[in-house]
Amino acid sequence: MIKYDVIVVGAGPAGLIAAGHAAELGAKVLLLEKMERAGRKLLITGKGRCNITNDASASEFFKHIYPNGRFLKHAFGEFFSKDIVELLNKQGVETIVERGDRVFPVSNNAADVVQALLSWVTGNKVDVRYGCKVGKLVTKDSVISGVLVTNQGVSTEISADHVIVCTGGSSYPATGSSGDGYLFSKALGHTIETVRPALVPIETAGNLAEQLQGLSLKNVNAVVWVNDKKYKEEFGEMLFTHFGLSGPIILTLSRFVVDEISKKNKVEISIDLKPALDDLKLDARLLRDLTEHGKKQMENIFKLWLPSKMISVFIAKVGLDASKEGHQLNANERKRIRILMKDFRLTVTGHRSFKEAIITAGGISTNEIDSKTMESKLIKNLYFAGEVIDLDADTGGFNLQIAYSTGWLAAKFCVQRK
Ligand SMILES: Cc1cc2nc3c(=O)[nH]c(=O)nc-3n(C[C@H](O)[C@H](O)[C@H](O)COP(=O)(O)OP(=O)(O)OC[C@H]3O[C@@H](n4cnc5c(N)ncnc54)[C@H](O)[C@@H]3O)c2cc1C
Repeated sequence: MIKYDVIVVGAGPAGLIAAGHAAELGAKVLLLEKMERAGRKLLITGKGRCNITNDASASEFFKHIYPNGRFLKHAFGEFFSKDIVELLNKQGVETIVERGDRVFPVSNNAADVVQALLSWVTGNKVDVRYGCKVGKLVTKDSVISGVLVTNQGVSTEISADHVIVCTGGSSYPATGSSGDGYLFSKALGHTIETVRPALVPIETAGNLAEQLQGLSLKNVNAVVWVNDKKYKEEFGEMLFTHFGLSGPIILTLSRFVVDEISKKNKVEISIDLKPALDDLKLDARLLRDLTEHGKKQMENIFKLWLPSKMISVFIAKVGLDASKEGHQLNANERKRIRILMKDFRLTVTGHRSFKEAIITAGGISTNEIDSKTMESKLIKNLYFAGEVIDLDADTGGFNLQIAYSTGWLAAKFCVQRK
C-alpha cells in the first residue's frame, strides 16, 4: 500500500495551494476531494469574476479579519498577496487592481483562476482524486497516521506522515463545503468555536423592504443599533430584497448583526439616505427646493431627493398627502421628512441561512493551532488551512488570501518535518 508524505483534504483554494506547494518542495502528495471537480466555491467567487486578493498592506488586512487577524502574521509573512498574484501570473492569469485595492483576473473569469491553480498542482505531480470523501482522521498515540476515505460506498484507510485539513466552512454547502472538517477534528478533541453564517443577508420586520425590493442605494450610511445604542456603521452600497437587506455594506455589518440577534438583543438598521448633509444643511436644501418648486405636488418634488421607487413608500411612512403642493408644507412636515431621510429604520428579525452566507464565522479554535506552522497543538503532524479555522474576513479578497497563506505555511512545515 502506498504511503504518502502528505495528504491534503479538500481541493478548494487552501487545499490546492497546500498540495501544490508541498509537492514542489519534493513531497509525495495526495489531494482528496469529495466533489467531482476542484474549486467549486472558487468558481463562484466575486460573482464569477473572483476577487483573488487585496493589494492592501498586512496591517490593513488585520483590520478586516475576525476574531484575531494577527494570528495570520506568520502565514502572511510567508505567502502574501503579491505571491499569489505572481503564481497566477506565471500560470498565465493576468491580474488587475480595482477600486478598494481588490485584485481580479483581467479576464473577469474565476474559472481561469481555478484552472491555473489546478494545472500548477498537477504540474507539480500531486496525485488528485475526486469523489473521495474523508470521514475520519486516523491517529496513533496522538500522532496522525492517515485518513479514512469513502469512494463509491467503499471505505479505505490511506496512510500518510502528515495531513492538512482544508475542508472549508459550512456556507454554500452545495459547493462541497458542508462542515465535515469540524466533525472529524472535534472527534480528535479540537474545540470548534460556534459556527455561524457571516457576510449574509439580513431579514427585517414587516413589508417595508419587500415594497422596495430590487432598489439599490449607493453612497448611503447604514448604522446598526443594538438595544437603542449605536453599535457599528458602514458607508457604501446596499440593496433591498423581498425578505430584508443585502448588498456590500449590509453583508459587512451582518457578522455583528448575527451575533447580536443570537444574544436576543433588539437590533435595528438605520439608513442615512443623505450622509453628506448634516441636519442644518439638509433642512436648508429641503426648504430651497420647496420654495423653488412650490407649485409642484410633493410626489414630484420628492424626485429631486429620492430614487423614484422609494417615493410612495417614503411619503406613506412620513404620513404626507402626496398631492399637497410644496408651498403648503408646514415646518413640522418638513422636519418629519428630514428625520426620516437621516434615519430610515428597519427592525432586524433574523438572517439568511448558510446556503446564502459567503463565509462561515467560527471554526477550529486558533488557540489549538500553532500560528507559526498551522500544526495542531493536540495531534502531531495534523495541520489546518483555510476557512475551517476560526477566521473570517470582510469582502475584498481577504478571505481567499487567508486560504492561500495558511495552505502555503502548512505545506512548508509538513515538508520541513518530513
Ligand atoms: C458566493 C461566494 C462568493 C465569494 N467571493 C469571494 C471573493 O470574491 N473573494 C474572496 O476572498 N472570498 C470570496 N468568498 C469566500 C471564499 O470562497 C472562501 O473563503 C474560500 O473558498 C475558502 O477556501 P477553502 O479552501 O478554505 O474552502 P473551500 O473553498 O470551501 O474548499 C473546501 C473543499 O473541501 C472539500 N471537502 C469538504 N469536506 C470534504 C471531505 N470530507 N472530504 C474531501 N473533501 C472535502 C469541498 O468539497 C471543497 O472543495 C466567496 C464565497 C462565496 C460563497
